[in-house]
Amino acid sequence: MTFRALVVEKDDEGKTSATVEMLEDDQLPDGDVTVGVDYSTVNYKDGLCIGPGGGLVRAYPHVPGIDFSGTVESSSDDRYKPGDKVVLTGWRVGEAWWGGYAQKARVKADWLVPLPAGLSTRDAMAVGTAGFTAMLAVMALEDHGLTSGTGPVLVTGAAGGVGSVATAILSNLGYEVAGVTGRPETADYLKSLGATLIVAREEINETIKRPLERETWAGCVDAVGGPMLARVLGQMKYGASVAAVGLAGGAGLPATVVPFLLRGVNLLGIDSVMRPYEDRLRVWERLAKDLPLDKLHAMIQPATLSDLPELGAAILKGGVKGRVVVDVN
Ligand code: NDP
Repeated sequence: MTFRALVVEKDDEGKTSATVEMLEDDQLPDGDVTVGVDYSTVNYKDGLCIGPGGGLVRAYPHVPGIDFSGTVESSSDDRYKPGDKVVLTGWRVGEAWWGGYAQKARVKADWLVPLPAGLSTRDAMAVGTAGFTAMLAVMALEDHGLTSGTGPVLVTGAAGGVGSVATAILSNLGYEVAGVTGRPETADYLKSLGATLIVAREEINETIKRPLERETWAGCVDAVGGPMLARVLGQMKYGASVAAVGLAGGAGLPATVVPFLLRGVNLLGIDSVMRPYEDRLRVWERLAKDLPLDKLHAMIQPATLSDLPELGAAILKGGVKGRVVVDVN
């Protein structure tokens, strides 16, 4: 049996190339569940793995795709049987293991979750790792005391995947949402997701001049990191929290500790990759409940396997809006 996949090869000079190829079933890696993939998506990390890898890919040839949804074809694990609908995010699939940019994937049963009630396999990949992580970030802010009516919640990288989903969830939960974007043309899109205030990236992306500024934000979901995160820390209200999700603007943190010491600001680390199974179920349950499907559907840009090299390069330059859903068939 053969199936189609996006295969990344690396030549002797270290240059990578990604092409759609036919593979044989027996080329699939070891694993206890074989899934017929319906959909995958494009996250920032996928951009790295479709290209030179950013040190994430373990071996070539490689099939990227850090998440997928689909139907179990065969399973040697009692938890899954043929016909079950499943979702996978994280566990370094698509980096250290072959991922979802293929019509078939073989993985460990431990890495899968059942498709959440109320979502289709297409919805699940419209959410994808980016949306899953946005929900984790909102839940972390709630766990640290965020309640509505205490002021605006800032979302950085708002027009990207994490930012779009975070904006829609927070707005649906009754929060006032301020979205930071470097793309003014996305203002109407962000407002349609529920943002009430649009902050221009350049207003907030400069290196800090003072460790504390006016107390402005009741919470923050930060997909950008770097100088923007440093600046945001000094603008948080007393006792408020920032969920640090991403590094689209840089991995450094040119900040001072003053906001932690004088304002009791909390910096919460968010990891979606190694999250335990029970947490994953809770996150998907919340997504099915708190992310309005009409807003999710408004974020979708459809794509196929052959679109992926171009989309991978675009997401690394901050050039993808919302969520790409890849129909691998
Ligand atoms: P996207 O590219 O879809 O979104 C990132 C957004 O950040 C862009 O759309 C853009 O938004 C903004 N941005 C891009 N470059 C810059 C820059 N140089 N300075 C300031 N803002 C910039 O990516 P994702 O939403 O998929 O991922 C966002 C981040 O979260 C990535 O760093 C990713 O690695 C990380 N991530 C982390 C996870 C975890 O488990 N912790 C899981 C998933 C993602 P705009 O145009 O609106 O300004």
